[in-house]
Amino acid sequence: MNGDDLTLQRAKLSICSTPIGNLSDVSQRLLDTLRSADVVLCEDTRHTRKLLTHFDIHPLRLVSYHQHNEKARQGWIGELFASAKHIALVSDAGTPMVSDPGALIVETAIQLGVDIVPVPGPSALLAGLVGSGLPVTPFVYLGFPPRQQKERQAWIEPFAKVPATLVIYEAPHRLTSTLAFLLDTLGDRAAVLARELTKRYETFLRSTLSALLRDVEANSPRGEYVVMVDNRPSADDLEEDADMSMTSAMEHVMSALGSGVRHKEAVAEAAQRFGVNRRELYNMTLKRRDP
Ligand code: SAM
Repeated sequence: MNGDDLTLQRAKLSICSTPIGNLSDVSQRLLDTLRSADVVLCEDTRHTRKLLTHFDIHPLRLVSYHQHNEKARQGWIGELFASAKHIALVSDAGTPMVSDPGALIVETAIQLGVDIVPVPGPSALLAGLVGSGLPVTPFVYLGFPPRQQKERQAWIEPFAKVPATLVIYEAPHRLTSTLAFLLDTLGDRAAVLARELTKRYETFLRSTLSALLRDVEANSPRGEYVVMVDNRPSADDLEEDADMSMTSAMEHVMSALGSGVRHKEAVAEAAQRFGVNRRELYNMTLKRRDP
């Protein structure tokens, strides 16, 4: 089978977001899609059947993609598309692929030339972010932190200096250790905990990492959480960075002078390289040169 197969080109994969705790969040389009699909592909049939039954939807085939392992799945997905014109992909809650399975199905469907149609809807990620009050642009979605300390370090490392809102999912019993880790790694930044979104006890705690940590230490966390951190550099961070750049630029100039480079030239090169003010660098290195 390949992307030129005409039968497959007419097949369609709808990627459907489902409620994350409030059934009123279903859209008319979601219900129409689930009703018209030949197959509803889900994580757990018992879980998804509850949702479907609530809306009086009785699909011809409700199939779990968990019953096939990763390797076997690719061939199985091909066979599925050969036998069904319209497949609706759902996860247990929210948007498939957002810390949920589904990526392999979409990838395979694209390879097969199947039409991909997102049916947008609930996701804790965007609900938490827009309610947080933190900047939405740019944001970085990091999903669940790894459990091991060493892996956590490698996971956060590339984003530790990224000036964006970081969005993280975490289970309640790991929330305390994750907040402690974030505080340790990123410093005491503004942060928000979004709890039980779209549900009866939806809460936003807008504070700092240290205060949120104290809060969860005092009140055992329960329910579902999105953690958001304002990772934009503070005024102190910027000042520290500027100091470090000036120190490096000065060292560069002094070493160039030692090698016989003319003062003006050494300053011009270092100012450009370290992004510091040329006149200031000249004056500071002049002082050090001629005390
Ligand atoms: N695919 C889902 C989505 O689009 O948000 C996420 C699935 S992931 C397995 C489950 C995690 O999402 C939870 O541990 C929690 O961090 C977050 N989450 C899901 N529902 C939530 C809710 N109602 N309130 C807060 N966080 C939620």
